[in-house]
Amino acid sequence: MDFTPSPRTEEVRAQVRAIIREHFTDEERRKVAESGTLHSQAFHRGLAAAGILGAAWPVDEGGQDFSPHEMDVVTEEAARAGAPLAAYSTTMLVAETIRRMGSRELRDRVLPGVLAGETIIALGYTEPGVGSDVAAVRTRATRREDGKWVINGEKAFTTSAEVATYVFVLARTNPDVPRHRGLSLFLVPTSTPGISFSPVHTLGGEKSNMSVFDNVVVGDDALVGEVDGGWQTMIVALDFERGGEFAAEVQRLLDLVVDWAGENPEEITPHMLRRLGRAATATEVSRLLGIRTTGLRAEGRPANLEGTMAKLYGTETLLKHSSQLLDSLGARGAARARDLDREIEHVYRHSFVTTIYGGTSEVLRGVLAERRLGLPRAGSKS
Ligand SMILES: Cc1cc2nc3c(=O)[nH]c(=O)nc-3n(C[C@H](O)[C@H](O)[C@H](O)COP(=O)(O)OP(=O)(O)OC[C@H]3O[C@@H](n4cnc5c(N)ncnc54)[C@H](O)[C@@H]3O)c2cc1C
Repeated sequence: MDFTPSPRTEEVRAQVRAIIREHFTDEERRKVAESGTLHSQAFHRGLAAAGILGAAWPVDEGGQDFSPHEMDVVTEEAARAGAPLAAYSTTMLVAETIRRMGSRELRDRVLPGVLAGETIIALGYTEPGVGSDVAAVRTRATRREDGKWVINGEKAFTTSAEVATYVFVLARTNPDVPRHRGLSLFLVPTSTPGISFSPVHTLGGEKSNMSVFDNVVVGDDALVGEVDGGWQTMIVALDFERGGEFAAEVQRLLDLVVDWAGENPEEITPHMLRRLGRAATATEVSRLLGIRTTGLRAEGRPANLEGTMAKLYGTETLLKHSSQLLDSLGARGAARARDLDREIEHVYRHSFVTTIYGGTSEVLRGVLAERRLGLPRAGSKS
């Protein structure tokens, strides 16, 4: 198997690096660090101006027909540079869903703003007490006599809502059918009366939000997919989650420590070298799992389980090796290279949340045991 990136992939890499250099300035980096909002509008606009946002789409839909490998380069380079992509990821996940499942009117209304980098979309799936088992959502959307929908409920972890134009809200539209069949998805403008957000600060320094929907009124034009067909729409959206992007975060961690070691050769201990060797191996495994997932997608083959493995391994690797490398630097790291120490310390705190969002590690391990190994669901009698 040949893992050499194509010349076009390397051209995209050079282009993305140039955008990061130009738009993700020290000032932007400081803004992100201080606010905790995982979005840089300057960088996002830079990507939009280069046509990168919808680059995976066909040319006649505003894209550039980029392959999945070429799209991976965007997340890889951003992660290696520490540029935030949380809002980019949720926006493009929903935009892709709308492109495939939305009405013509919805596509025409929403997608041009997305491609221009002006429309940001947050995900509103999780609720207080409803996370992994997302089909249990309690937020209700009820049809009024005039045909409008009234949404009531609370959402948790609505990341990027403070900069979003819309929230993609999963709500129960029919409580009288088996729970997967009574869900619908709505694209709700954040400016709609009745919506409020309050910040939630996480261990990793990222800001997320609690959201309240209090008699929020929207029309049928906010529906994405069919009424009560939200589960099917979510399954389509899940297909766009990649899983391999965490390898670049591990690589960044390694880059930081290797740079530091190069500047401070007298600080290197045999113990540290062994840890770096282990981290380098795990980083490579992470990267290869990501490439395998993307390769399958590029061939139009299912890659959900491979993506699950890549996400699980990448995030657990980040957690383990950021802890070990931070430990290796110890007091010397803190005393002599405070900036580096802060960065690694930050990667370490951030690594915990990566094992929660996009499927917790425990849930993903269960999925792999069931679907890859054919084992029965834990606790089932069969
Ligand atoms: C920083 C951050 C950003 C997020 N951003 C968003 C966002 O933008 N939009 C959004 O909708 N959500 C978002 N989430 C929510 C995230 O998707 C959920 O936190 C996640 O799905 C887990 O749900 P939960 O927190 O309710 O935990 P629970 O599902 O209640 O899980 C609690 C514990 O039980 C374990 N567990 C649960 N079910 C099983 C099982 N079947 N087998 C074994 N163990 C199990 C879990 O692994 C975990 O350890 C974000 C979360 C974080 C931390």
